[in-house]
Amino acid sequence: MLSVVPTPITVRVPAKLNLHLAVGDSRSDGYHELVTVFQALSLIDEVTIRASDEPGLEAHGEGAESTPTGADNLAWRAAAELARVSGRDSEDPGVRISINKGIPVAGGMGGGSSDAAATLLALNSLWRLEMGRDELAEVAGALGSDVPFALQGGTALGTGRGERLVPVLARHTYHWVIALHEEGLRTPEVYGELDRLRRNSASRVGDVEPVLEALASGDPRELALLLGNDLQAAAVSLRPVLRRTLRAGVDAGALAGIVSGSGPTCAFLCTDADEAVRVAAELSGAGVCRTVRVAQGPVPGARLVGDERTD
Ligand code: ATP
Repeated sequence: MLSVVPTPITVRVPAKLNLHLAVGDSRSDGYHELVTVFQALSLIDEVTIRASDEPGLEAHGEGAESTPTGADNLAWRAAAELARVSGRDSEDPGVRISINKGIPVAGGMGGGSSDAAATLLALNSLWRLEMGRDELAEVAGALGSDVPFALQGGTALGTGRGERLVPVLARHTYHWVIALHEEGLRTPEVYGELDRLRRNSASRVGDVEPVLEALASGDPRELALLLGNDLQAAAVSLRPVLRRTLRAGVDAGALAGIVSGSGPTCAFLCTDADEAVRVAAELSGAGVCRTVRVAQGPVPGARLVGDERTD
């Protein structure tokens, strides 16, 4: 009989923002080579997992209605993969997963990947697997490019498909305003649009080193000048309102704005917490997004509730 903890396990997991996202040309396996700087932000999903004879998945919170609840949910895929790796039944891992969404769905903030990371950490406890962070990160990398970062959190440089990570020194808490839009963008479509745009012109973000230096200095004004995302032009091309959103955030007093990952969520860097609240209020009245949130980063990666030491 395989050992299972009888009580539910809850994990809190952050969203990610790409402060710098350089997209290389498309590889023979269809992926693009990336150089990215991730930062984990305080928009949080909560994933609770219990052993159950009635396996399944449910989602609550904002955007839950557009979160798949079947085998295509990334959290479920994570459970199936960890079951396989640990010699359990991957068709029926015998668990019930409940996700409370605080990360915008299909917003370019890696919500599905975060839920997958949270699931790995929760099941590691529930099934008493005692796998180390490195072993979990290996399973995470096989599930998706953003999953290892959601485990690690903080600020990190990602290469490969984004799954090879090195922690980055970030000397400051950065204050962000996040503008959410009604309808998500599909990541493959945004990459496709980038490939199309690049057939005509090829403007690309600069080198990553100055971004790392700005993070080490801790000055948000320095970082603001260097935020860059190669997917931004593609996201704006597919969703022209984003141009207005980005302008409105800066007009409201943000230091700079950027499309988050593949969009359509936009993130605005502000000088401090008070200024972020002020910019959020002004932006929410500008009619260029559905709603706004204030967030800060970096925050830790996936953490068991009751075990939230910062490291
Ligand atoms: P990506 O990581 O591809 O950039 P994203 O951050 O834009 O994605 P997600 O919230 O991860 O957005 O959702 C992308 C799609 O993945 C959604 O349209 C949804 O159908 C699917 N999905 C699968 N699992 C989940 C999950 N646990 N939470 C939210 N969406 C999920």
